[in-house]
Amino acid sequence: MSETTIFDKILAKEIPADVVYEDDAVLAFKDINPQAPTHILVIPKKRIPGYADLLAESDAFVGDYMKKVAKVAQELGLNGDGYRIVFNYGKNGQQTVNHIHAHILGGRGMSWPPG
Ligand code: 5GP
Repeated sequence: MSETTIFDKILAKEIPADVVYEDDAVLAFKDINPQAPTHILVIPKKRIPGYADLLAESDAFVGDYMKKVAKVAQELGLNGDGYRIVFNYGKNGQQTVNHIHAHILGGRGMSWPPG
């Protein structure tokens, strides 16, 4: 069993979050430390530590999760100007919460390469 994280407390509504989308499989909420005018985290309700762990999940699960990220971005009105999706993984990726999360960043032009 993977470790519990702050996101489990958000999923359990034990600590508040500014939720923008929720269904049976995922929760999307505003990042507490936004790096863009729109900065949303999309997490599966199933506890999966990080991106590499998606290999153990079914194609249906992963496909549904990826489509939900796109759906949230669309509902946020970001399709017109575009947006960036980030999955940080592990030490070099500077992942700080070990419950997989897609960052949706939008509302400004992004730079490349990322820091
Ligand atoms: P990571 O660095 O793991 O890719 O991203 C974790 C993200 O979770 C960070 O952007 C951080 O600001 C956000 N975060 C950490 N704790 C909380 C919290 O309690 N509430 C919310 N809404 N976001 C959080």
